[in-house]
Amino acid sequence: MIPSKTKGRRFPLLPLRGLLVYPSMVLHLDVGRERSVRALEKAMVEDNLILLCSQSEVDIEEPSQEDIFRIGTVANVRQMLKLPNGTIRVLVEGLERAEIINYTDNEDYYEVVARELPEHVDADQESDALMRTVLSQFEHYITLSKKVTPETLAAVSDIEEPGRLADVITSHLSLKIKDKQEILETIDVNKRLERLLDILNNEREVLELERKINQRVKKQMEKTQKEYYLREQMKAIQKELGDKEGRAGEAEELRAQMLEKNLPEKVQEKIEKEIDRLEKMPSSSAEGGVIRNYVDMLLSLPWSESTEDDLDIAKAEKVLDSDHYGLEKPKERVLEYLAVQQLVKKLKGPILCLVGPPGVGKTSLARSIARSLNRKFVRISLGGVRDEAEIRGHRRTYVGAMPGRIIQGMKTAGTLNPVFLLDEIDKMAADFRGDPAAALLEVLDPEQNNTFSDHFVELPFDLSNVMFVTTANTVHNIPRPLLDRMEMLFIPGYTELEKLEIAARYLLPKQLENHGLEEDKLVIGNDTLLRIVREYTRESGVRNLEQQIAALCRKAAKQIVAGEKQQVTILPDEVKDYLGVAKYRYGVAELEDQIGTVTGLAWTEVGGDTLLIEVTVVPGSGKLILTGQLGDVMKESAQAAFSYTRSKAEELGLQPDFYEKNDIHIHIPEGAIPKDGPSAGITIATALISALTKRYVSKDVAMTGEITLRGRVLPIGGLKEKSLAAHRAGYKKILLPKDNERDLKDIPDSVRSDVEFVPVSHMDQVLQHALVEHHAGGDMSASLH
Ligand code: ADP
Repeated sequence: MIPSKTKGRRFPLLPLRGLLVYPSMVLHLDVGRERSVRALEKAMVEDNLILLCSQSEVDIEEPSQEDIFRIGTVANVRQMLKLPNGTIRVLVEGLERAEIINYTDNEDYYEVVARELPEHVDADQESDALMRTVLSQFEHYITLSKKVTPETLAAVSDIEEPGRLADVITSHLSLKIKDKQEILETIDVNKRLERLLDILNNEREVLELERKINQRVKKQMEKTQKEYYLREQMKAIQKELGDKEGRAGEAEELRAQMLEKNLPEKVQEKIEKEIDRLEKMPSSSAEGGVIRNYVDMLLSLPWSESTEDDLDIAKAEKVLDSDHYGLEKPKERVLEYLAVQQLVKKLKGPILCLVGPPGVGKTSLARSIARSLNRKFVRISLGGVRDEAEIRGHRRTYVGAMPGRIIQGMKTAGTLNPVFLLDEIDKMAADFRGDPAAALLEVLDPEQNNTFSDHFVELPFDLSNVMFVTTANTVHNIPRPLLDRMEMLFIPGYTELEKLEIAARYLLPKQLENHGLEEDKLVIGNDTLLRIVREYTRESGVRNLEQQIAALCRKAAKQIVAGEKQQVTILPDEVKDYLGVAKYRYGVAELEDQIGTVTGLAWTEVGGDTLLIEVTVVPGSGKLILTGQLGDVMKESAQAAFSYTRSKAEELGLQPDFYEKNDIHIHIPEGAIPKDGPSAGITIATALISALTKRYVSKDVAMTGEITLRGRVLPIGGLKEKSLAAHRAGYKKILLPKDNERDLKDIPDSVRSDVEFVPVSHMDQVLQHALVEHHAGGDMSASLH
């Protein structure tokens, strides 16, 4: 149809915007621009042929020659339709590629001289191969891209001419104009197919990527949507079940609580995670309860709260003095400790351990330290703790798991820097469940305790700001590694006089206040207090004394409230009306000199005490009988005393075979209480010799000391406590090992002025002081009452 002139001929030109027409394509075009309309009209009046070339830029209204691609398609205008809005719709059919040679100077419309570019249709094998590849790539493309319908594929696969195939496929792809134009301009068919393959490959890759991204986005969306949906459903179900709050409400509440607290990041993360888990639990599930418990625990711990230290030493001293009488050494040491703390800010020093019998004010001293520092105070008792888990907690997987006592203590304190009292550290035990002392060691180690790990809490907890104070009755039972960490402050027990002071100045006013009694409502004089100390208590500390005073206050309060009395004054002799008959005979010192009975001095966990030792000799076959729950060491001590006596038989005026004809029975009364230690050695020997020689022992003498087989007296421990006990019991003379003489400086003056201390180094001296020549004859049965 097209006149084939290689030289070219004139064509009216229609510049296309954003679109390209290939030969053999039939399509509608809407034409609005005036010049274009005139070009169309020109074509219609001539041979219906028009050249369609694309503009390189879509938005140029009046394109110049440079804006129009030089290669386009000659088309046949089949129909023309005027639309109501003034534009014209035409149906065109692409015929052949053509190249603009030059523009004419027609002003009415674009007019060019162009020459057709006929296709080389010498299809070869290569074209066949290329066509197949292109088709299969296109097929792949269609499956990826939803924009092209499968029917198109069917239509396309029927095309046999390679050039046309490339053109048609290209027209179905959504490509940039530039790329489409390139296909148009590629006259060589094989090259065109190759170029198309490139484009298809590229497109396919892009689509593939697109699909992957879409899938990812979709998955994410689906997940959040699903979660949201499920959560909503859960809420609805809970509502249906009449479960008003449900876990959802609970979770909200916990989240709010969490945000209120100033939590470290890690802790907050952990809590958030747990709350999320909680939310998904049905409200009846037991595990939900466990999680809730855990979250509550974490929320109640002081992760960042602390109190400001008051480091005013003068004030601290005042507080300590106003709470406690005496205790100079411990108080002094505490003040030093605080002073150093003030200088170095954070003290990694030793842990104070207050050692002494019950009731001497260890706990209340620790409480005072807290008060003087303006810190919170917590106390836990380690007595009977034998399981590591009690210190470090149980793992959450245990039924009824709980945090350990340290963490519970911190929860009670509510701050990171309390004074933390570990009571009775000597009463811990270890068994198969692990050694609590090892866990405690970690608690007390300043190098480790900033990340203390409790099995229940799971997160490391900072204990490095805590001031630990420990107490013990004796140091013997404290595990060695713990002992090394601590500095011992001994509180040995009080003298009668000290007790009197403490009672008058501290205990009585405290109890009056506790019972709501004004000072003048109940008057208890010092002589009355002394009576109570002597006849109603027998202890190293003042705990019992305080209880007795409290009892008096109670009874007095009752009398006043009942209207029996306006005011109560208790005289020494009236004490028994309130507290019953005296519990102890003051001065248990023997009333008379005795044979075979000697008072020794013992040192127990609850302080010093007197210890009566009785020996009786009866005809028999030479047995040595020991009764009164003696420990091994004490038994050996008795054997040693016995051997010594035998070796001295002649000197003492005894028959050399005395022990073969007699049984010797050594008994220490209060048989239910176990007794041990070597310090009764000289006492047993004295009792033995007294019983065998029937010589009297002075009622005023008490003694303590270890004996050797040669009769030497070896030093002992706890002299102060023992002396206090002897003094309390009313003894006038105390025999002590010479080597203990240096300990005498610790004995309070009030005791030293009442009691004569006699250092001895050999049994001979002991006997010298203990045995007395007696006026009236007595016999052995005197000691057996
Ligand atoms: P511990 O812990 O050594 O067994 P506590 O601290 O429980 O003894 O003391 C028992 C009671 O005795 C407390 O009420 C305490 O205030 C009081 N107390 C002990 N020693 C003194 C003292 N030196 N001055 C004043 N009160 C004391």
